[in-house]
Amino acid sequence: MRVRFKNGVEVEGRETRILLDPLKTEPNVTALITHAHSDHVPKDVRRPKGRVLTSRGTANIIRRRYKGQVEVIQVGREYRIGEFLVRAYPVGHIYGSVGYLIQGKEATIFYTGDVNPRGALTAEEPEIPEVDVLIVESTYGLPKYRFPDQLRVRADLAKWAAEKVKQGKNAVIEAYVVGKSQEVIATLNWLTNLEVVVSPKVAEVARAYEGVKLEFSEVRPREPHVYVTGRANGDKVVVSGWVIDYGGGFPLSSHADFDGLLDVVVKSGARKILTVYGFSRYFAEWLKNRGKNAEFLRESWLVV
Ligand SMILES: [Zn+2]
Repeated sequence: MRVRFKNGVEVEGRETRILLDPLKTEPNVTALITHAHSDHVPKDVRRPKGRVLTSRGTANIIRRRYKGQVEVIQVGREYRIGEFLVRAYPVGHIYGSVGYLIQGKEATIFYTGDVNPRGALTAEEPEIPEVDVLIVESTYGLPKYRFPDQLRVRADLAKWAAEKVKQGKNAVIEAYVVGKSQEVIATLNWLTNLEVVVSPKVAEVARAYEGVKLEFSEVRPREPHVYVTGRANGDKVVVSGWVIDYGGGFPLSSHADFDGLLDVVVKSGARKILTVYGFSRYFAEWLKNRGKNAEFLRESWLVV
């Protein structure tokens, strides 16, 4: 088996090729999608050239937001794709996010997509299988990215919003439209009684969250309220892991931080670690310096 990072992550056996989160689909090649963030969804998902498979949750969002044509596979069930056996595992990043275990003749590979081993209020409990080869994201693959306790961050966010409203002001929260905004709604529903109002785009995605209770409205009242939106001007706070770099805001992240990535590496028990996205070169180097067989994925094929 061999792998590379070209049209997304590509896995190839003797006669079967699989695309993982490809940029675009290809005729007669199956594409597996890990989650509904736009950088993981093929650009031509409205009219794909080959089969596109994903979890039910991710399919719900892709159909609403991108008008995409996708087929649903059951999480935890085994599917045959050519010479490979494939199984999806929840990875805790956002609603519907899964990683894929690909079992070939020579090796088992697990591709995480974006992963959060701490999990989230709106995602299924993450599960990392034991495999020979781990392909892991490395968005926060530098040691400086260590997030504070995430429950603390949620509590601080809820407290900030409640105080704003008590002062007679609107608490405006800027968060990524897919995934983070819904996590913010869930946090506020859980920890406060505040009325949560959201922008139309945030609402559209939140309605795809089948089986997750999210209470919000789209009509902004005259009274002070919480407003969750993808982009806001003026007086607002930002909720994102990246505020670690800029200061201010609330560092609630959907990704593993550096320790979280190490946690995924250990849980997988993999003999070979391949890194992709973000600080992939650095993270592989760091692992290598500590005796792991690690490399970052690039355009040239790597045999595993
Ligand atoms: Zn993502």
